[in-house]
Amino acid sequence: MGQRIQAVKGTRDLLPPETAVWTAVERAARETFGAYGYSEIRTPILEDTELFVRSVGESTDIVGKEMYTFTDRKGRSLSLRPESTASVARAFVQHGMHNAPLPLKVYYIGPHFRYERPQKGRYRQFHQIGAELLGDAGPQSDGEVILMLVRFLSVLGFEGLVVQLNTVGDEESREAYRKGLLDYLEPQRGALSPDSQRRLTSNPLRILDSKDPADHSLLEGAPQLREFLNSESREHFEAVCGMLDRHGVAYSIESRLVRGLDYYTRTVFEIISEGLGAQDAIVGGGRYDGLIEELGGQPLPGIGFAIGEDRLIDVLPNRFREAAQTTSLVSVTAVPPVPAAEALILAEQLRDENLPILAELADRSLKSALKRAHRAGVKWVVLIGEQEQENGTVAVRDLEQGSQETMPREDLVSYLGGSR
Ligand code: AMP
Repeated sequence: MGQRIQAVKGTRDLLPPETAVWTAVERAARETFGAYGYSEIRTPILEDTELFVRSVGESTDIVGKEMYTFTDRKGRSLSLRPESTASVARAFVQHGMHNAPLPLKVYYIGPHFRYERPQKGRYRQFHQIGAELLGDAGPQSDGEVILMLVRFLSVLGFEGLVVQLNTVGDEESREAYRKGLLDYLEPQRGALSPDSQRRLTSNPLRILDSKDPADHSLLEGAPQLREFLNSESREHFEAVCGMLDRHGVAYSIESRLVRGLDYYTRTVFEIISEGLGAQDAIVGGGRYDGLIEELGGQPLPGIGFAIGEDRLIDVLPNRFREAAQTTSLVSVTAVPPVPAAEALILAEQLRDENLPILAELADRSLKSALKRAHRAGVKWVVLIGEQEQENGTVAVRDLEQGSQETMPREDLVSYLGGSR
């Protein structure tokens, strides 16, 4: 016997019946985003490494430590996508989509890869559901994106979620802040973690999302970005807050929230779920007004978010989970000596009437057929015994009620609610 091969560490198989929950969540996303005018985009899982270096940023943990990067047979450096905003922006530039009616609204659903230490809610292959709005800089876009996100989460049955909101300012404000932060940290350089010491030169803002406790206590007294905002950045942020107020969206302003990617400008936000560890956000997003230009396109603003689908499903409200796993299947079974082939004939006729049917494919005793139907979560079992076969009738057993009635075959479709 050969040795068993396991799924790669940090990856997992999604199996039925759990996959029904994933399908239902994705369907809800498609419907909700569709209702805001979003269409699906599918970009490759594999990209030039350079794309992420230039957009997410070389000094971020994602690019510096977590990417699955390899050289292909021609020596090109490729990476499995660690996120998709960069890919969407690349596709936008590559296909000259600035000529399409703007803003462009797209969403994506799919696997992403980061070499992180696997733990609950953290995987090396994880899934994101994300949306991007490209080509509009106004605060209404930030507001609508957040409203859409909140609506999606409430469709899934989440209650009491609070959006954590902050602004990282525009280029000018960030530059001013970079200087302020440097002035504060430089004299204390020796007390910073080695990673943060390096970032002091390459990208001081990244020190703010350090996970090192020593860095944290140093940062307590650090100047805040809010103090360096120019008036445009401040007004934009106030307008976004005003819009959320008007629509009754609960949010809290978190001045330490900067998000671990370089491309963000102005609005950034996260949603944390209590069911997960404190550091585990289920959603992260923000505005990225310089990204398209950075990738060689026209200067065009954008905003979006990414939901961690694995984490979302870990903390999904029970009502949605149960509804997703409830089947509407009807089982059709022939009772020996009637051959199973008879059940298949009836099953196909019922499928013609749009009824979802689980046909019992083998000749089985009534008892074992009923047991199997029960385990499959079936509500009704349609039985064809010898007598029913002769009379042109069927017996329908309601597994929930434990009752059974016999009826002419012609009545079956309307009884089961088919062809609607
Ligand atoms: P980010 O692109 O880092 O803002 O991530 C967006 C969302 O993706 C996060 O809020 C998480 O919910 C999810 N996420 C990121 N990394 C992982 C991971 N390794 N495993 C599971 N979910 C993740």
